[in-house]
Amino acid sequence: MPVKTNTATQSPSWISRLADGVNSPGEQPGRIRSVSVIGAGVMGRGIAAANLQQGISVRISDTSNDALSGAVAELEANLDSRQQAQKLISGTQCRQELAASDLIIEAAVERLAVKQRIFAKLETYTSPESLFASNTSSIPITQIAAKLEHPERFVGLHFCHPVAERPLLEIVRGEQTSDATLSAAVEYARSLGKRPVVVGDSPGFVVNRLLTPYLNEATVLLLEGAKFEEIEAAAVEFGMPLGPLAAIDGIGIDVALRAGTVIYDAFPERMLPSGLLLALFERGDFGYKTKQGFYVYGDDGQPSKPSPAATAIIDERKQSPRPFSKEELTARLFLPMLTEAMRVLDEGLVTGPRDIDDALVYGIGFPVTDGGLLGWAERLGMTTILEMLAPFSPLGLRYQPTEQMRRMSSDGNSSFA
Ligand code: NAD
Repeated sequence: MPVKTNTATQSPSWISRLADGVNSPGEQPGRIRSVSVIGAGVMGRGIAAANLQQGISVRISDTSNDALSGAVAELEANLDSRQQAQKLISGTQCRQELAASDLIIEAAVERLAVKQRIFAKLETYTSPESLFASNTSSIPITQIAAKLEHPERFVGLHFCHPVAERPLLEIVRGEQTSDATLSAAVEYARSLGKRPVVVGDSPGFVVNRLLTPYLNEATVLLLEGAKFEEIEAAAVEFGMPLGPLAAIDGIGIDVALRAGTVIYDAFPERMLPSGLLLALFERGDFGYKTKQGFYVYGDDGQPSKPSPAATAIIDERKQSPRPFSKEELTARLFLPMLTEAMRVLDEGLVTGPRDIDDALVYGIGFPVTDGGLLGWAERLGMTTILEMLAPFSPLGLRYQPTEQMRRMSSDGNSSFA
């Protein structure tokens, strides 16, 4: 789907710097020449393909033989004949073979115990130089690395979905990640042609900590009686590449629920799960990957219509419908993302505001016109943002300004530069 942009006229002070963009793929071949990918689902396949494209050989593994053989066939089908001849891809369940790669990236199910077990089993076979990484969406990587003998070699490598379309590689520094591991991760991101943004270790890191309130609010709005199509249209007209309900389907309702739960548990006073994801999950409707979630998907992979099952669940639970203006829907969707971004800044999880905007523009396709989310707030001005928040304040902390936002408004200074 094409990325639409909103209609901003004035750019914030740092927008020109966004133009320096992403490195050309393969510009700097790094020390990572071979990668093992553990988990051959949606993300494992995307990560494997990104490596193969740069001539990095891939060993891929999965507990499900069907998932593994399907992934290898799909990846092979996309190799050109030169890459085929070099035999860049292999599927294996052998731990010694997997441990032999320069970098081992785990992209298995979003459960701490599973992730810890995968690395514990591999660590005994690896050389001290190999790097370990998790593509976790939400679990602090310090926790995943906690039982390793060498947690200093462990880093979060959060590729975004769909990997081929999202240039961001969010690199998460755990409490024990060494400088050498971090710089190898940054070099690796560049060798893939990805845009590295290094962030601190906290549930959901930056991208998913900010994406969750936005996606969640769409489900809350459904239960308040807002129309499905109008929620989706408000986000797309704002400039998002697709509506939040379609985005949840793409991520996978199972994955969004598991990652969302880690984030809800960490910030219960601000994140409000609606129960809709759980209801769909219990039906086995996981979104695009099962051809049914909030939408039903045709054989061409495109959403054909809202799912009748999801519509029935929403109808059963929703309050009486009332009209929502486009402005109200836009404010309801994006303001919780903004107040959370201000908290991420306050907590020092990023080096500065530009990292937040880069993470959202390159990671979720947030409209680039204003430079990103903080650029949007800068253009509107903090006093206007506070006025937009005020009517929703009774809904809770997610619609209440932080101290820094109040200060910026009273100082008449909306600049993040
Ligand atoms: P998925 O359900 O599509 O695939 C997970 C795969 O892992 C399955 O094929 C499963 O059989 C396999 N698996 C489970 N346990 C395993 C084990 N012990 N060893 C090897 N394989 C095992 O899920 P996904 O969307 O690819 O997500 C994978 C990881 O990436 C999760 O941690 C998720 O949070 C994260 N992530 C997902 C997205 C997204 O948008 N889907 C984006 C970024 C990160």
